[in-house]
Amino acid sequence: MFPSIRSFLAFGYTLIVLLIVASLGVGIHTLVDHRLREDLDKGLESRARQIARFILSDTDTDLARQVQRLSGGINGGEPESDVIYIRLYDTSGLALPLDGPIPPIPDATPQELRRLKGPAIKTVVGREGTRMRVVTQPVLYRSAPIAYIQASRSLAPVERITGQLRSALVVGGVLAGLLAGLLAYILAYQALRPFSEIVEDTREIGADTLDRRLPSTYGVDEVSRLARSFNSLLDRLQNAFDLQKRFVADASHELRTPLTTIRGNIDVLLLDPRLSPEVRASLQNVSTESARLTRLISNLLLMARADVGSSPSSFRPVDLHALVLETVHQSLASTEDVSLSLGREDQVSVAGDADQLKQVLLNLVDNALKYTPSGGQVTVSVYSEGPWAKIEVSDNGIGISQPDLERIFDRFYRAERNLRGVSGSGLGLSIVHWVVRSHGGRITVESALGEGSTFTVWLPLFGSTDTTAADPGGPVSNRSLTNL
Ligand code: ADP
Repeated sequence: MFPSIRSFLAFGYTLIVLLIVASLGVGIHTLVDHRLREDLDKGLESRARQIARFILSDTDTDLARQVQRLSGGINGGEPESDVIYIRLYDTSGLALPLDGPIPPIPDATPQELRRLKGPAIKTVVGREGTRMRVVTQPVLYRSAPIAYIQASRSLAPVERITGQLRSALVVGGVLAGLLAGLLAYILAYQALRPFSEIVEDTREIGADTLDRRLPSTYGVDEVSRLARSFNSLLDRLQNAFDLQKRFVADASHELRTPLTTIRGNIDVLLLDPRLSPEVRASLQNVSTESARLTRLISNLLLMARADVGSSPSSFRPVDLHALVLETVHQSLASTEDVSLSLGREDQVSVAGDADQLKQVLLNLVDNALKYTPSGGQVTVSVYSEGPWAKIEVSDNGIGISQPDLERIFDRFYRAERNLRGVSGSGLGLSIVHWVVRSHGGRITVESALGEGSTFTVWLPLFGSTDTTAADPGGPVSNRSLTNL
């Protein structure tokens, strides 16, 4: 629901502050409103009592004449909302004519007055919607009412003050909420910054940089503890990775020796002219499959080495032309319906590891033969161009689509539409890529679906130091081209 912890905290704090301000506001408002009404009621009651005392203390018992005298003292020149309106009723409930402003409320009915035992107070909505507070009380002489007094006053001043208080509380509350949200956001940002740093630092750690570690202090104890436990997780992961790599390397190495023996023995058996056609076919099948297995194991071994990192000090001069001839000769044995031939041949040498370069050639030629249908043509060329030795393996096979071109050098990637019917591991090209890069070279692919592909390997010529100036990308054709 919330995109980040920061926004969650900001929202939470805003809500909490709004709740606190709202409950405080309701409390203050209720208190002030109650006190103001209480004051107003007390004022009205004391005025009514004052008039009652005046009536009772007057020796002239004629109410009409008392009214005359009262009129002079009642209702001075206050503003309309501050006026205390006085009404006087005789015992029959008749309102007596007093001077001064007429209250904006209907007169009390005789029944209402007769029910009164003491002062009664209520709120009445007067003319023009004015809300009035009204106190009505009998004037008792020897427990018998001799008149009724009604004192009333507008509630407008009280409502004006409580209205202003309400607006101030709402505005203050909203401002406090916004301020709290902003402060919470800033505080959360500051508090969570070490976590963002840890995210950035961990992003830089990948399968090939597992030896990196996070700094052990991040300013905040919790985050530093997280970094330490992440580092110990990395230790365990790296150990597991190393173990796995060592296992692959050892196992591949151990498997290669018996496989070479098997292939040697089969080749010897195949020399026997007395073999029946069925047995010969089976043996040839075993020979092809064990050759495939040898290639796979060599790839695995190289992959394990790639993970550990190779040492360029083991590089020696390698006759690339001889290596190409050897590979083509070897591959001819495994192809019947696709023709494999040599194209341009130059005598070129490079500095490198002959076994690894042989594997590059085997993988490229093997792929070209695999992905070219019967009747197709595969050509292998080796020549020099400027400071570069180039090996070109081109076919007129099924070709590679643009999206696949982006990924064929990834480990274990196999183009979806080639999966059916063609065996493979998805390892060959990633090994080719690694070997070529570790020899200071590059590889380019030019391919068009249904027309064929050309893989070109660029390696620095033996003794050449000038390869950085030259462009190993070569001419870009308008067909799909990947340059790695
Ligand atoms: P695989 O064991 O599948 O051949 P690779 O790593 O050697 O694995 O090749 C990766 C993918 O690249 C292959 O699955 C295939 O789809 C594609 N590919 C490689 N070489 C060619 C080629 N000469 N023609 C068409 N597609 C190819």
